[in-house]
Amino acid sequence: MESFVGYIHIRYANLKRYFDTECSVKKLLLIFLSSCVLWYYIGARGRKDLREPCQFQKVPFSSSVMETLKLETEVKCNVWNSFVYFDNTGYLHLNHSAIYAAGFNQSQLTCEYAIVLMDGFHGSKLVDKTILTKPTYVPNDFVYVVCKTLNRKTVYANFHYNVNTEINKRDLLPDTQDQLNIVLLGIDSTSRFLAEKQLPKTLDFFENTLEAYPLKGYTRIGDNTLPNIIAALTGKTLVESVLSTSGYPSLYKEILKRKYIDCFSEDWAPFLPPHLVKYPNYTHYLRSIVVASKQSEFKMFQQTFNNNTFEAQHEKLCFGNNFKHNIVLDYGKQCIEKYRNKRKYVFMWVTELAHHHPEYLSLGDNDAHSLLKWMHTSGKLTNTAFVLFSDHGSRYGTLTEHEIGRMTKNLPLLSLYLPPHLKSRYPHIHRNLKYNAAQLTTPFDLHETLLDIFTQNFKEQIDFTDNCVLPRGISLFRKIPSRRSCYDASIVENYCPCYSYQPINVEDKVVQKSAIFVVSKINEMISKSPFSCKTLELIKVVSAKIQRIPQNSNTNQRSSVRYVVVFKTFPGYGMFEASVEYSHSNEAKLIGNIDRINSYGNQSRCVSEQVDIGYTSLRQYCYCA
Ligand SMILES: [Zn+2]
Repeated sequence: MESFVGYIHIRYANLKRYFDTECSVKKLLLIFLSSCVLWYYIGARGRKDLREPCQFQKVPFSSSVMETLKLETEVKCNVWNSFVYFDNTGYLHLNHSAIYAAGFNQSQLTCEYAIVLMDGFHGSKLVDKTILTKPTYVPNDFVYVVCKTLNRKTVYANFHYNVNTEINKRDLLPDTQDQLNIVLLGIDSTSRFLAEKQLPKTLDFFENTLEAYPLKGYTRIGDNTLPNIIAALTGKTLVESVLSTSGYPSLYKEILKRKYIDCFSEDWAPFLPPHLVKYPNYTHYLRSIVVASKQSEFKMFQQTFNNNTFEAQHEKLCFGNNFKHNIVLDYGKQCIEKYRNKRKYVFMWVTELAHHHPEYLSLGDNDAHSLLKWMHTSGKLTNTAFVLFSDHGSRYGTLTEHEIGRMTKNLPLLSLYLPPHLKSRYPHIHRNLKYNAAQLTTPFDLHETLLDIFTQNFKEQIDFTDNCVLPRGISLFRKIPSRRSCYDASIVENYCPCYSYQPINVEDKVVQKSAIFVVSKINEMISKSPFSCKTLELIKVVSAKIQRIPQNSNTNQRSSVRYVVVFKTFPGYGMFEASVEYSHSNEAKLIGNIDRINSYGNQSRCVSEQVDIGYTSLRQYCYCA
């Protein structure tokens, strides 16, 4: 998960304190941030190209990309069996056969469990420590279990979970044909392109067998997870969300008002800080043990029993002896199973699987497919809308070194399943979703759609007229006009997938000049930092393309020309991509971010060691001296 989320989190935690205590500061900030938003809109309004109806660019496919996505070696988690397990009535048992297989018997071990509770939003605490000797009912979802030998050596330490419906104290209502369950399964850093290659079984089953609707023009509205997820869950931008003084976002109000159970299952802890999206702790909240597992006092057992080796295998992908994505799916599945006929809002978000390594995504294909198949065959989809989606494409890893990887970064996966009875009762929804498959869509639209599902807003609405101003978010149940532009949809230039490009010779003078200009910008940034970073030099331009900006018909100004250059630098062999624009004055202007598109490993260790998380973006540029 991106460090930016953490950065924003800490920065806005400070902001929030100001907001709460210092009215005048709040007003100043409000004016400043509003000015930024206004500035952006005025700027965007001036750009004719952003306002053109979207025509998606063709993505050039090269078979060499598939080599990038192959798993070189087998990936597995530690192979030991758990010493305890929950049955589905909430009783915790000792697993005698696993204990015996590990070379112990029960008389040699003492296993103690404690209930894991959230302690504030960023901490966990243990309560009710109990020695486990016989099957024992646990009135909660999470326990931490430690087993020790007679000489007090820890031979087992792990977290266990079980969705316990007793912890819900709210009244719930049954789902119906009109009041649907909403289940979201999100996989971070997964473009539609990547999903097609790495999740073929899941996508085939979802879109061909279950006839879910692919939204192939789904486009990110921000760089990383936070702005895209906030837009989908709250209908707001990051700035609007920070400034919002209202309580819960509209989606959560509906969960409470319409008496849904709420389950949140995610494998990465600092996601969605509540003061940004104003979400409370969810009723069933896997985050509790994810947060706990990061606390130093909670050790997790990483030992394999073969030769007592302590090497953790694939720590990023595994939680104890299981894949993290499996735990996310299983916890969500338990919620779906245990609240059988009740209204459910289940949000599963798999962060670690594809975030840094798109090749690992294939490890989740069988598991995601199994979940969908189970839901289908057990009737759990009868009254359920199921959203399979992501926030953006690969931002790290070898895929970004390919043109196709960079081009599909803007186009995350989105596919929507609706039960057949809904489609037959409201044929316009089927018709419009088919049509919208090829239209420009965003997380703001997904939010409007989720609201429509919550509020049973399935009635046909009149189409937008040719001249009306389009709203920022449009429910996917409505026909999205083909005239919609990136400007209409609030997609900034960096992420707009509607431009066309033309390759240009890397030896071209302006291309070379652009690359040198961007390197100078990087050097400017690192020279102002407190770190000892080496000055970078351009080795070569790897690729270049031109994105033309149409002439503004109201003036006789010369067209601006934008170059997108990919280049390598020394020392460190960093590979970067950046856009440089030349207006009629021929002055170079950097557009958007300079993206590091190959791994920087520990080249930036001097930055990584810094406590201030505000410097994390420098990691991609700094080659420590
Ligand atoms: Zn993300």
